[in-house]
Amino acid sequence: MKTKKPKVTEILHHLGEEDLPFGAVNPPIFQTSIFSFKTFADFKNALKDEKNSYIYSRGNNPTVNLVEEKIAELEHGEKAKLVSSGVAAISGSMMAFLKSGDHVISVRDVYGWTKTLLEKYLKRFNVSFSYVEGTDPEEIEKNINKNTKIIYLESPTTFSFKIQNLKQIAKIAKKHGIKTIIDNSWATPIFQNPIDYGIDLVVHSVSKYIGGHSDVVAGAIIGKEEDIAHIFKTEFQNIGTVPDPFMAWLVLRGLRTLHIRMRVHYENTLKIIDFLKNEEKIAEINYPFFKENPQFKLAKEQMRGGSGLFSFKIKTNSENNIAKFTDSLKYFRRAVSWGGYESLIIPYAVTLCGDNDKDRLSLVRVHIGLEESELLIDDLKQALSQINL
Ligand SMILES: *Cc1c(COP(=O)(O)O)cnc(C)c1O
Repeated sequence: MKTKKPKVTEILHHLGEEDLPFGAVNPPIFQTSIFSFKTFADFKNALKDEKNSYIYSRGNNPTVNLVEEKIAELEHGEKAKLVSSGVAAISGSMMAFLKSGDHVISVRDVYGWTKTLLEKYLKRFNVSFSYVEGTDPEEIEKNINKNTKIIYLESPTTFSFKIQNLKQIAKIAKKHGIKTIIDNSWATPIFQNPIDYGIDLVVHSVSKYIGGHSDVVAGAIIGKEEDIAHIFKTEFQNIGTVPDPFMAWLVLRGLRTLHIRMRVHYENTLKIIDFLKNEEKIAEINYPFFKENPQFKLAKEQMRGGSGLFSFKIKTNSENNIAKFTDSLKYFRRAVSWGGYESLIIPYAVTLCGDNDKDRLSLVRVHIGLEESELLIDDLKQALSQINL
């Protein structure tokens, strides 16, 4: 008999925490590098089955494993591995299934370090790649070669916020025996579960929403038991992208409120977009749940909501105007990353190391935090009023 899917808070607040010592509400941090054995026989048995034993914290640690159990269940996957960062999740999940001569298809506007992995790092090992826009599944199928091993997705994409049709792409990949990996950091398992659509592996920058407080760097990989076991045996143990127990404990604290935080990020963002769309100085808004977005219908079909990260353009060609707007904001911090309780801004222009991307000069990305929406709208209003077009 199939058991009923647990409610989100059953996972976030209860799963794996049934019998804590002293009736403690929160689990202890097992801040230990090693685990000892009573006998020679116990020691030998543990080493025979490293994946399921507590031997050394570069393998398993109870605090880490508790978080993995929750994240696996949240993503509707069989198993999860917590790793030391989002990029460790991305590189580990890809490298574990690639060898020299293989080919990867990836959406073009992926996270910057994912690009570096494809364009520079994997090149050293003779792995080639093709970029696709990702909005048309047929385009992906056309790029499949005999040696294509991975289709890599990020939905929505970094800075441009375009989404991919996960069900159709997973179907194409299965037909050709290709593994699919998706970066699901933006939607989080609260709003999107790619495994339900047939995607093989989900990766997260846990540093973003799952951590949720801008105080931790972490990553996660979720998928079938055999795939996670393979990653554990190969890239995880050998490259050693180990999550430390205290980090795992902070992630656990973040998880407690993930479902509530995501709801507020979503509600706030819709209100702020409602304000921006009527501002004459705003040229373009990139957010899958903006009603005028051509992918709005697909967004509603495959996600239950949107997060607080989106981009827009200001009607100007002047970097000075972008700088003036950015510097005038009082409640948006000027910083990289996103997913915490606080609002942030990063103008694309600060990332330009040359002027090869002129048409993105006026693009800014904001993260809408958990502040009152009126506070943020007033702030954006006054900052926009500082610039003359
Ligand atoms: C930040 C980010 C990452 C990298 O995660 P780290 O935890 O910083 O290593 C990966 N993917 C996306 C979409 C990100 O924004």
